[in-house]
Amino acid sequence: MPNIGNLKSQQEEVKTEIRQLKNRRKILLNRKMDAERKTRTRRLIEHGAILESIFPAATAMTGEEAKAFLSVISRLPEVVRLLKNKPESNMELAGDEYIEPADGLIHCKKCRGSRQTVVPRFGGSGYFMPRCLCPCQQKAQEEWKAMEEQRERMKRVKRRKAQGLQDRYLYDYTFSNDNGQNPVMEKAHAYVEHWKEAYRDNTGLLLFGDVGTGKSFFAGCIANALLDRDVPVLMTNFPSILNRLTGVFAEDRAAFIASLDDYSLLVIDDLGVERNTEYAMEQMFTVIDSRYRSKKPLIVTTNLKLEEIKNPPDLAHARIYDRILERCAPVLFSEKNFREEGARATKATAKEIVRKG
Ligand SMILES: [Zn+2]
Repeated sequence: MPNIGNLKSQQEEVKTEIRQLKNRRKILLNRKMDAERKTRTRRLIEHGAILESIFPAATAMTGEEAKAFLSVISRLPEVVRLLKNKPESNMELAGDEYIEPADGLIHCKKCRGSRQTVVPRFGGSGYFMPRCLCPCQQKAQEEWKAMEEQRERMKRVKRRKAQGLQDRYLYDYTFSNDNGQNPVMEKAHAYVEHWKEAYRDNTGLLLFGDVGTGKSFFAGCIANALLDRDVPVLMTNFPSILNRLTGVFAEDRAAFIASLDDYSLLVIDDLGVERNTEYAMEQMFTVIDSRYRSKKPLIVTTNLKLEEIKNPPDLAHARIYDRILERCAPVLFSEKNFREEGARATKATAKEIVRKG
């Protein structure tokens, strides 16, 4: 039976042996890592040398530049084919697709354009080849977008018209319904054509003249044409505005008047037909003054004479008219208007028919 002393010394020997083996292992591992590092360094130097021997320009490049340069090269079809692995599973071909032998990528049978692209994996090696749109798909997408935009625009125009033309008959006040007998209508066309300048310079119009001379039609044509161009316009009159303000709290009244200035163009039809109460005059002044301060154009139609507007009966009228005259260019509508012309034409035609009959 071995004594305890022997056992202890054997144990020590084993422990020493383990320690030595562990050390040896460490040395071997270090050597292996060293060898790997050397191999890698040698490979990197070799690849670098190859790169510089084939592309001498690479010598002068920074690391970032060399990376960008190789990234470009990596996209060349030849390179892609060399590096390409098996196609990814989600890359099943659709009926109108084929694999183009020249680059090994999915192409469109219709336009022959590529439906797959090659992107180097960021910060790693290898590539992925996501799908992309071929030219005919891109065109189709753009057309669809344009159609959507057009639809949205039409919806918006319709909504703006419903808001801006509160009276149904105003929908018919359009250039296409103009019989061309009133030469002053050229000014309406010109106003629409030069809308950008009119808006920028805050140029409004004061349409004055006798009843039935086509002032509202003139203003309505401008309103419709601008609404069709997606410009926010409101055509209203003081009786409607005053009606809207009646029995409303002061804050709501202020909010409503401020909301009129959201419109790029405000048309106030038939100024002067409203009741001249102190309250009405006060509200009218607030509306006109707010518009004046907003620096946005205003078109006013009125049956009043320019003389009446220039020589107001009292201060309450004066402060309203002054602001209108300051911002709105006067346009006179003469007696000889298109309705009379129309009526005269009808009479003439009737006479003709009578004479023939
Ligand atoms: Zn295509």
